[in-house]
Amino acid sequence: MVLFYVVAGMIFGSFFLVVGSRLPKGESIIKPGSHCEGCNHPLRWYDLIPVVSYISLKGKCRYCRKKLSIIYPFIELFTGLLFGLAYAKYGLSYEFLAACIISSILVIIYVSDFRYYIILDSPIVIGSILILSLKWYYFGFKVMVLSLISGIVLFMFMLLIKFIGDKMFKRESLGGGDIKLSFFIGVVLGLQLAFTSLVIGSFMAFPYAVYVVIKNSNKEIPYGPFLISGTLIVFYFQNIIGNLLSYI
Ligand SMILES: [Zn+2]
Repeated sequence: MVLFYVVAGMIFGSFFLVVGSRLPKGESIIKPGSHCEGCNHPLRWYDLIPVVSYISLKGKCRYCRKKLSIIYPFIELFTGLLFGLAYAKYGLSYEFLAACIISSILVIIYVSDFRYYIILDSPIVIGSILILSLKWYYFGFKVMVLSLISGIVLFMFMLLIKFIGDKMFKRESLGGGDIKLSFFIGVVLGLQLAFTSLVIGSFMAFPYAVYVVIKNSNKEIPYGPFLISGTLIVFYFQNIIGNLLSYI
């Protein structure tokens, strides 16, 4: 069963690559069918088997031999592992479904934020609605409302940080996408764990930020992938992190 969810995750990952690559450019995610980004040659089903095609083609397009980005098999494998781990850890439960939703949002944001520095609204909106509906279904109306409030508090908090940051650095300090994303994080985790995930995400972004500053002082840093990685870590290891928090 775990293997089934790994494979399902890999297929979903392959689809999220398309979503994250095409939506920011305003392209349809259905038409045209998958094609090589180098030569535009349409790809057949056997070019599109997650991970397997990449390995059998040795990372090159079958038609023009252009090198394919390592991001494709990496994202497919990563999504597969996240789905498999969610099932192995939680079985079919609220946590499993929530983990799959967060993983899906994470992958789409990774792709669009790393490629175009864009965090799309639609995955955040859809993800939030799904999580809120699940919470209502599994835990009742009150829990759902509390999650919604957590989302709003986190959103306002990040808005405040941006306001202070913009004043201090006299330039845009945080993107609007990061602030909208923090609403989703609040909804998923609740206040205490959500703030923990912000701290973890910022620590993970720090070495990368230092590297960017040293290399090229004006480059933007995509913060979204770090934020949502923090969320994922906190969600998957919430029992351990909840324990640690009780000591603070
Ligand atoms: Zn090609």
